[in-house]
Amino acid sequence: MFVYADNAATTKIRPAALQKYVEISEQFFGNPSSLHTAGQRAKEELERCRAKVASLLGCNTREIYFTSGGSESDNQAIESAAIAGAKKGKKRIVSTAIEHHAVLHTLNKLQKEGFEIVLLPVGENGIVSVADAEKAINSNTCLVSVMLANNEIGSIQPVAEIGKLCRERGVLLHTDAVQAVGHMPVDVKELSCDYLALSAHKFGGPRGVGALYVKTGAPLFNLIEGGAQERGKRAGTENLPAIAAMAEALGEACENLPSYMRRVSALRDKLIENLSKIPHCALNGDREKRLCGNVSFCFEGIEGESLLLLLDDKGICASSGSACTSGSLDPSHVLLAIGRVHDVAHGSLRLSLSEDTTEEEIDYLSEEIPKVVEYLRSISPVWRDLQEGRRSYIL
Ligand SMILES: *Cc1c(COP(=O)(O)O)cnc(C)c1O
Repeated sequence: MFVYADNAATTKIRPAALQKYVEISEQFFGNPSSLHTAGQRAKEELERCRAKVASLLGCNTREIYFTSGGSESDNQAIESAAIAGAKKGKKRIVSTAIEHHAVLHTLNKLQKEGFEIVLLPVGENGIVSVADAEKAINSNTCLVSVMLANNEIGSIQPVAEIGKLCRERGVLLHTDAVQAVGHMPVDVKELSCDYLALSAHKFGGPRGVGALYVKTGAPLFNLIEGGAQERGKRAGTENLPAIAAMAEALGEACENLPSYMRRVSALRDKLIENLSKIPHCALNGDREKRLCGNVSFCFEGIEGESLLLLLDDKGICASSGSACTSGSLDPSHVLLAIGRVHDVAHGSLRLSLSEDTTEEEIDYLSEEIPKVVEYLRSISPVWRDLQEGRRSYIL
């Protein structure tokens, strides 16, 4: 059996989006900046896509900027708010310890440039406290950046409440909604955000395309200089086939959202229940306030990487949710932030489901994962120490 359970890393493109990509490539091949008919037809299609994305997020068409994806959108939002803040002498940015690296590394860079960066802690459930956010905002604060849903542990953050606070205090709010869009209801007005980042390949669109919502009046500066595309805010010939495929994928995802969420969360709950029976394990993230497709566990006494390799042999594509892949042995900053100690954080497993996930696949995962965990424990010196009392269990 082959089970793709790494949809938080990327999704398979939806057939309708792929078809759209081909259709637009063939029929709207002109450059939207060209004055001739082919160009103008492409320009009209581009604006239709913008209107569609805007209506699905509950904003005005002019508030949507197309980008190369989530990372670029996060970078541009944060840099823009920082530049505007610095001009007013406001150089404090409040964010959380569990953000994606697209946010955290941008904040690191700003810190080196003299910004004061405050990373709020999260509770054991992986959720930031609104009261902590309130306390952290002061008169020097130019931006608050809180992700809507975490990519590793699926926890959903109280962005709407934090948004209200930010509005009252006159502070800009950015939300990295890359994991949320297409997987839960997202409305920029309900969130009271000034910036929202999304990425097509996380909801069945193609790679390398995304969007940034920028509320009218919020500062926006270029990351990429050149032509006057995207109202002068993002140079480069628009990737119209990808943008159209993204709009198509988002339309389909939003249309099927209630039934998708009902079906996939039932599969998620069944998988969580089954895997919870493994001794000395813990679910990561909140049991209720979590993405409908996210299952994340830590298993004591094993290495996440070995687990992934053995699961791959069984046809299961999963993720450790940790940053070890780049050769660094640091465990995931998200798992550390929810209080998992290093050893436990190394034994993590993330399974992220999609609308294509079946009951049979959940049964297969529920059968194979406990076997692999048991096998790895049987050859683990750490596990032997735990079993023989030379070390005490944490989970
Ligand atoms: C995937 C992801 C990103 C980066 O998006 P890209 O389109 O791959 O650049 C940013 N934030 C979160 C939460 C993500 O899951």
